[in-house]
Amino acid sequence: MGKRGRKIVHIKCRRCGRVSFHRRKGYCAACGFGRSRRLRKYSWLNKKKSRN
Ligand SMILES: [Zn+2]
Repeated sequence: MGKRGRKIVHIKCRRCGRVSFHRRKGYCAACGFGRSRRLRKYSWLNKKKSRN
């Protein structure tokens, strides 16, 4: 526990620009680049501001 950040797992995604592209898996955890053509989207992704 604790010692994180040793290996680089996620690199910069060239689609969304976030550091969420998984090197080994080959897809972006943030936008889904490399996994699907469409942007990664889920209903439970609704963040703040959108209260019912
Ligand atoms: Zn991305």
